[in-house]
Amino acid sequence: MRTETVDVVIVGARCAGTAAAVPLARAGHRVVVLDKARFPSDTMSTHVLVPNGVQELAFMGALVGILALGPSRSRYLTLQDGDVELRERFRRFNGIDYAICVPRDQQDAVLVDAARAAGAEVREQTKVEQVIWQDDRAVGVRCRDRDGEYELRAALVVGADGRRSRIAAEVGAWTPYRASRNGRGFVFRYLDDPLGSDAPDALQIFRAEGDQVLVLPSCPAGRTLVVNMTDAEVVPEYRRDVEGQWIRMLDRNPALKERIGGATEVGALRSTTDLAAYYRRSSGPGWALAGDAGHFKDPVTGNGMRDALKFGRLLGEAAAAHLHDPLELDAALLAWEAARDADTLSTYHWGNRETRPAPTSPLVREVLRTFVGDDSPQLSDTFNRARPVESVISPARLTRGLVRALRAPGADRKAIWRELRTELPMEIGIRRHRLVDGFRSRRPVTTERAGWTLGDPVRPRPASSPTGSVEAPEAQPGSSGPQPVS
Ligand SMILES: Cc1cc2nc3c(=O)[nH]c(=O)nc-3n(C[C@H](O)[C@H](O)[C@H](O)COP(=O)(O)OP(=O)(O)OC[C@H]3O[C@@H](n4cnc5c(N)ncnc54)[C@H](O)[C@@H]3O)c2cc1C
Repeated sequence: MRTETVDVVIVGARCAGTAAAVPLARAGHRVVVLDKARFPSDTMSTHVLVPNGVQELAFMGALVGILALGPSRSRYLTLQDGDVELRERFRRFNGIDYAICVPRDQQDAVLVDAARAAGAEVREQTKVEQVIWQDDRAVGVRCRDRDGEYELRAALVVGADGRRSRIAAEVGAWTPYRASRNGRGFVFRYLDDPLGSDAPDALQIFRAEGDQVLVLPSCPAGRTLVVNMTDAEVVPEYRRDVEGQWIRMLDRNPALKERIGGATEVGALRSTTDLAAYYRRSSGPGWALAGDAGHFKDPVTGNGMRDALKFGRLLGEAAAAHLHDPLELDAALLAWEAARDADTLSTYHWGNRETRPAPTSPLVREVLRTFVGDDSPQLSDTFNRARPVESVISPARLTRGLVRALRAPGADRKAIWRELRTELPMEIGIRRHRLVDGFRSRRPVTTERAGWTLGDPVRPRPASSPTGSVEAPEAQPGSSGPQPVS
C-alpha cells in the first residue's frame, strides 16, 4: 500500500476542516485535507452567518471570494410575534456589521479555495475509512481515492467530518456525553423575493402558532431563503403535501404572508428532523474532532457554521505551535476543547429551549416586548454571541416580563405561574451546569429533552481500534441519561 507522511491530516473540507487547515498551513506545516465530496457540493444546512461568523471568513481569507458571489448583506434583525415587533442593528465585529446567507455549494467551494491559497493540499473524492494507531496514539488515516487505498501518516489527525463522523467512531468518541433531542424540524426553500430591490436589509423572524419562520436574503441578491422551524411532528405532513402545508403556514402567519406570499419563482422544499444536539469527547492522543464531528446544537441558534469556523481556526492555531511534541500537542488540544465548551454551552442550552415548538406564551411575549425600543443590539447578541444568552435574557429582564405579563388585562395568572414553575428550575439548572458540570461529564447526560438519537451509529473496523484504552462505540442510549440538567 502507498504510504505518505505529512504534518497534519484533516478529514472533511467544509467549515471546520478548511478553517483548521489555514493557520496550520500558514505556519508552514504540510497539511492535507481529505473529502469524499467533489466541490462544489451541497449539504443539508440553511447557512446564515451573522457578523460574528462572517468575521471568521475574513480571518481565513475567504471573505473576498464570498462577497464576489454577490450575497445580500443584512444589517438588521427583525422579529414579529403577534403585536410584538422589534428591529435591531447587528453589532459590528472587526468592521463587519452584516449577516450573509450563501448556499453551501457556493460557500464551501470558496472555503476550499481559501485553504488551498493558504498552502494546504485539498484532495477531493477521497474517503477516509480508518484511523491508524501506534502505541495508543492516532498516527494517520487509511483512505481511498480513485486509484485505490493508501495511508497518510501525520502528527495530528483532525476529524472535521460532520455529525456522522467516522473519525469520532474510530477514536471511540461516537457516543456523546451530553445530548438533547430536537423538537423542531426544518423545512426550507428558495424563492425570488417578491419585494425585489425594496426588500429590507434584514434577517426577519416571523413567529406564529408555534412556527418560527426565517426570511433570509441570500445569494445572489434578490434570491431569498425561507425556513420554517416548525414542530418536528409536522414535517412528515409537509413531505406529504408540500404546497398545501406551505399555504397553511402563510395563512397562520399574516405578516409573513404579506412579506413573501406574492413570490412566484419558488424552489423545491427540503426538510429534516434529524437535529439532536450533543457534545462528544473531542480530543485525545494525536487526534481532535472539529465542527459538528465534536459538537452540534439545534440550528435554531444559527451558530453551527460560526462555531465550526471559529473553533476550527482556534484548533489550527493551538496545534500549529506544538505539532512535534506529542505531550504538548495533547495538552493544547485538551485546552482547545475546554475553551470550545465554555464558549458554546450557553448557546447549546438556548437552542434546546428554543427547539420546543409551543406557541409563544404570554410570559415569553412580555419578555420579548422588553427588547422593543431603540435599534441597538440586544436580542441579536444571542445570535452574535457578544455575551452569554443568560446575560442577554437576564434575570432582571425576565422579572420585568413576568410583572408585565401578570399585570396585563385579562391575564391568566395561574397559567403564568405554572409556566414559571417549569421554566425556573431549567433556568437555574442551566446556570449551574455552566458553573459546575461544563466539561466532559463522566456519563451520558440528557439535558433539556430526552429521547435523542443520532441515526445509525458509524462503527469502526475492529482492527482499527487502538490497543487497550478506547472502547468500540455503542448504539445510542436514547433517553437513558438523567433528566433535565437541574
Ligand atoms: C437543517 C440545518 C440547518 C442549519 N442551519 C444553519 C444556519 O443557518 N447557520 C449555521 O451557522 N449553521 C447551520 N447549521 C449547522 C451547520 O450546517 C453545521 O454546523 C456546519 O455545516 C458544520 O460544518 P463542519 O465542517 O463541521 O461539517 P460538515 O459541513 O458536515 O462537513 C463535513 C465534511 O466531511 C466530509 N466527510 C464525511 N465523512 C468523510 C469521510 N469518511 N472521508 C472523507 N470526507 C468525509 C463530508 O463529505 C463533508 O464535506 C444547520 C444544520 C442543519 C442540519
